[in-house]
Amino acid sequence: TPRVFSGIQPSGGLTLGNYLGAMKRFVEMQNADDGFECVYCMVDLHAITVWQDPAALTRNTRELCAGFIAAGIDPERSILFNQSQVPEHTQLAWIFNCVARMGWMKRMTQFKDKAGKNAENASLGLFGYPALMAADILVYHATHVPVGEDQKQHLELTRDIAAKFNHDYGTNFFPLTEPVIEGAATRVMSLRDGSKKMSKSDPSDMARINMTDDPDAIAQKIRKARTDPEPLPDNEAALEERPEARNLVNIFAALSDRSVAEVLADVGGKQFSEFKPMLADLAVEQLSPISSEMARLMEQPDEIDAILARGAERAREIAAPILRDTYRIVGMVGA
Ligand code: ATP
Ligand code: MG
Repeated sequence: TPRVFSGIQPSGGLTLGNYLGAMKRFVEMQNADDGFECVYCMVDLHAITVWQDPAALTRNTRELCAGFIAAGIDPERSILFNQSQVPEHTQLAWIFNCVARMGWMKRMTQFKDKAGKNAENASLGLFGYPALMAADILVYHATHVPVGEDQKQHLELTRDIAAKFNHDYGTNFFPLTEPVIEGAATRVMSLRDGSKKMSKSDPSDMARINMTDDPDAIAQKIRKARTDPEPLPDNEAALEERPEARNLVNIFAALSDRSVAEVLADVGGKQFSEFKPMLADLAVEQLSPISSEMARLMEQPDEIDAILARGAERAREIAAPILRDTYRIVGMVGA
């Protein structure tokens, strides 16, 4: 059966971008009739590539797990765990550190964005992030990886690493993974700046909608979201040069499971003063059941920890033999 892998960092609270670009897809793939085996991971080892306060990391990992479950991931049907409990990820990442080339890593735009001007001061882990990500995916021989648009370049690198490994060792052991980048909101933008992606690590809380925001906060953030003075157009092409307007329309479409064209057929001609409250109502309606379920699950951290521990056991049953075979291909004694 085809296998799905994807991860989310516990580097802050879940955002609307994570939900629409990733988690909503995860749920669809779990529930698809095609019979995917789904492996979903809280990638705590990725999170610490930039500084994380230890208590916050623990809390964010549990809250992220609660978010997965509240959004519709069933920990029986899918495998749900945190990365650090499955050491095979970092073991395979080391092999991939020796396969990937410095030049490949230097071209990664996420590194450039996150390292900022002073790249010399970034952690070595941030630089090597894509090799660990390739290991996350390939240690399960995953074939499908649902992600947001921003991860496309990392997935191409994952294919390059798999292809170079296969070539160097004369094997076809690692599959070439397909990115699954689908839906109306594969790149949700910041509410304050239509040229920047919405991120959980953005210093401005007004730039994003958090899954845990209450209805008032959601409404206020949408009301204050940057827009232009024109009314909404009635066709998609006219959104081309209007990134902020396009972002709000994309969010509306994704939240209502409709296409952008269908949404514009309804709201074309409206002013933002009328559209924004409609969007806020829709967002509250879609997000509040998830956030209240998250809050309920967070009252039982022991249960969350047990789910993650059990998920890690199941994940290791898949990952350990694949790592052993990799070691054998590389020529490690004892594998
Ligand atoms: P950070 O700022 O710490 O990198 P993040 O919000 O980018 O956090 P990640 O954990 O890096 O979240 O990404 C988890 C998943 O969410 C990935 O599949 C990523 O592509 C997707 N994603 C992140 N931000 C967005 C966004 N703005 N729109 C759509 N998908 C997104
Ligand atoms: Mg990110």
